[in-house]
Amino acid sequence: AVSEPLIALNNVEVLYADVILSLKGITLQVASGGCTVLLGPNGAGKSTTLKTISGMLDVEEGRVASGNVRMLGKDITGVSAEQMVAEGVVHVVEGRKVLRHMTAEQNLVVGGHRLTRMADVKQGLERVYGLIPRLAELRTRTAGYLSGGEQQLLLIGRAMMARPRLLMIDEPSLGLAPLMVKEIFDLLGKLRAEGVSLLIVEQHAQAALELADHGYILENGRVVLEGTAAELRANEDIQEFYLGNQ
Ligand code: ATP
Repeated sequence: AVSEPLIALNNVEVLYADVILSLKGITLQVASGGCTVLLGPNGAGKSTTLKTISGMLDVEEGRVASGNVRMLGKDITGVSAEQMVAEGVVHVVEGRKVLRHMTAEQNLVVGGHRLTRMADVKQGLERVYGLIPRLAELRTRTAGYLSGGEQQLLLIGRAMMARPRLLMIDEPSLGLAPLMVKEIFDLLGKLRAEGVSLLIVEQHAQAALELADHGYILENGRVVLEGTAAELRANEDIQEFYLGNQ
């Protein structure tokens, strides 16, 4: 049998407040163990697609109006965010903030709040510090005083404490200096190599397409183009609109 994708959206329509049709029939798949990227202009529906998968639509009065979402073949349409975390789906939402008055390590511990045994929390911290050595150096620092890039590393570390099988990140490099962008993408590459599946929304198309295996271009609530990362990099429209070569 053909193996089921980790996540599949089948003709999904999403409504906000019962009136705003945000996704207009999105069909896409996220493979197990790879990296999938969503590209597209502002308002295309990228963030809404992630929220549809993580169960975070209801916070904003959104809902799936038709179609369905499946995880390894099982229907998960409309499942709560809490339950999705239990399923191993962790979503770092756009503009999420660290807990400013806590130390970096306390932020990580919060990310592991579902771990009930101290030994698991400790092991989680060790894993995160192994992956992101900089966080080990910063662990006693107050999170609110870390740089933007360090805060982004902390948010990813915090998400890792929940032991995701699918990590979804909205705009991981937003507002960061080029060196930091590289550090973030290097980290995402390490997570991928460890077998964490990734779904990322990213303005930085070049870096994203270097990391990703597969990508989708969204416009106005629809998928207008999809392909392997290599196909997308070679596509002239993409080169013009997203990669800045004319
Ligand atoms: P951006 O990069 O600007 O976040 P995006 O591709 O992630 O863009 P979405 O944020 O998913 O796009 O928005 C898709 C559409 O849904 C837009 O028309 C937007 O106005 C609408 N929308 C998003 N969130 C809400 C909300 N909470 N209530 C009403 N409409 C919303």
